[in-house]
Amino acid sequence: MATNTQEQQSQAARHQEVGHKSLLQTDDLYQYILETSVYPREPQPMKELRELTAKHPWNLMTTSADEGQFLNMLLKLINAKNTMEIGVYTGYSLLATALALPHDGKILAMDINRKNYELGLPVIQKAGVAHKIEFKEGPAMPVLDELLQDEKNHGSYDFIFVDADKDNYLNYHKRLIELVKVGGLIGYDNTLWNGSVVAPADAPLRKYVRYYGDFVMELNKALAVDPRIEICMFPVGDGITLCRRLK
Ligand code: SAM
Ligand code: CA
Repeated sequence: MATNTQEQQSQAARHQEVGHKSLLQTDDLYQYILETSVYPREPQPMKELRELTAKHPWNLMTTSADEGQFLNMLLKLINAKNTMEIGVYTGYSLLATALALPHDGKILAMDINRKNYELGLPVIQKAGVAHKIEFKEGPAMPVLDELLQDEKNHGSYDFIFVDADKDNYLNYHKRLIELVKVGGLIGYDNTLWNGSVVAPADAPLRKYVRYYGDFVMELNKALAVDPRIEICMFPVGDGITLCRRLK
């Protein structure tokens, strides 16, 4: 167990960066955000979907409530209308998106697993926003390639949320950069990969964390030097990197 002095030293080391301003240092602080600002304002259908998802064995995959609130606000701020989501699971981020879009807004949603989407679908239907969603079951890549074949899809998306197979993010990026509007946003989720992006090379990480972590780090490096976008690494949830298309 670390002594108080050791803890203080490592805390100090973490805060040496000039301009260090991150206040989120404890789980209690995160819980405070959820209880004070997120849960009291969470729309009823999102609460219902979150509670339903919590009973599912793969609930680790769901978007957190604070990130859902962030996405909902972001989509309203950019007046998003035509959107895409890669990686739906039970649909928490999808519902956050659907609730933010205007009545005639659209979401092309893709997942290899329809069953999980159908688990959350009744809640989405009850919320009156299912008509905005076109769900495609199967891997996203062939759908993107098909979209790219039609010139009218180029530069047509206001917002694209990518939350699926991390080993393909860079392959998605090659395609999505053509599909998103100039001035539009792509959000790559989990770019902090549970903090493992700063784990030492010999850290005892679970196999899948190590495997996908390498792809996440490669993505982060590539996005940081991509001249076609400007980026903002937003440390909400497990980290989301927002990429705004410049040209
Ligand atoms: N955004 C979701 C939410 O808010 O709950 C979470 C998505 S979960 C982290 C990742 C999803 O990506 C899984 O449901 C998985 O089935 C899906 N997935 C994995 N590989 C995929 C692929 N090649 N194409 C589309 N979806 C994929
Ligand atoms: Ca995610």
